[in-house]
Amino acid sequence: MNDSPPPTRPIFPAMGRGAIGRCPACGKGALLRGFINPAAQCDACGEQLGQYQSADFAAYFVMFLVGAIFTPMTLILAFKSEESPYAIWFILGGAVATALLLLPRAKGAVIGLLWALRIHNV
Ligand SMILES: [Zn+2]
Repeated sequence: MNDSPPPTRPIFPAMGRGAIGRCPACGKGALLRGFINPAAQCDACGEQLGQYQSADFAAYFVMFLVGAIFTPMTLILAFKSEESPYAIWFILGGAVATALLLLPRAKGAVIGLLWALRIHNV
């Protein structure tokens, strides 16, 4: 029987691999299927990725970040009456685009974090 602890998993490389949509274990296989659906298993190394459930953490993180960036911009613009009324739509479109851009990256980074810390169900 082998009582040695499992090998350590560096957190930041795993999160970085996840953020670019790659398997946190090998960095080669795809982590996500579609927009934010995690793959059940890595195509390259066979790591069971489906057991790392990030739930809504990535979405909450992205909402917090986008809100922190774009809410002050929107409020400042709303109280500056000399600005073009179309500028508000530009900012709101930027907020939606930023959220859509960040969401799969945040999801991958969270799955990478869960993988590195071995936080999984089953
Ligand atoms: Zn892999």
